[in-house]
Amino acid sequence: MKVLITFDLKSTRILLFAIGIGLLSLLVSCGNNFGLKIGDQDVYAFGSEEPCNFITSNGFRVSWKSDPPVNIIITSSVPSEYDSEILKAADIWNSVKGQQLVHIYRDNSFKNDPGYDKVNAIYWMPDWDTDLSNQQARTSVRWDSSKLQDADIRINAKNFTFFKEGDESTAGKVHLQSLVLHELGHAVGLVHIEETASVMQAYLKSQTIRNKPGAVDTSSLSCEY
Ligand SMILES: [Zn+2]
Repeated sequence: MKVLITFDLKSTRILLFAIGIGLLSLLVSCGNNFGLKIGDQDVYAFGSEEPCNFITSNGFRVSWKSDPPVNIIITSSVPSEYDSEILKAADIWNSVKGQQLVHIYRDNSFKNDPGYDKVNAIYWMPDWDTDLSNQQARTSVRWDSSKLQDADIRINAKNFTFFKEGDESTAGKVHLQSLVLHELGHAVGLVHIEETASVMQAYLKSQTIRNKPGAVDTSSLSCEY
């Protein structure tokens, strides 16, 4: 497994999720939870919450707690033709919750690069690590004491092309709405789910539309939000 980035911001913890094409699954690093040093000033309580397919930290589910809707910016890097697909992906999670869980909007004036700025954002990346070229996207989440603080979604526009509803040509392309739906799941705290029909399965084949949350996705989400 390759280490993508390591962060150790005192008590802030980071987890990176990557999604790639199945055939190259052995090369994909997914859900690496980096060992972090615990600072002297950190005070931990220990819980016994059911994971419910969420990131857990010291026995607590890691989430935005009572903060939703989670605001997420579409940065100027993202081609505006995909806005509607991204908003549809948000609406799918919102309908699972029955009220607004994520609120996504475009802000072309937002110029930060991905990083720990406590602003959640989606980035279209024309450059991507050469040795990680099989990753379709990557979401990094950071939390402190089981409360999420920051989520950034990077989309690999160097190695992949994407299609949206109504496009005639889908050959070899990734369904952007399905991809973003998966990444938004990470952005609210969900981890990968295998063995069960779920939008949180780690691998999304090209030309495949996977935008219907499974029963496990609904039960996971309702466990926390
Ligand atoms: Zn993932």
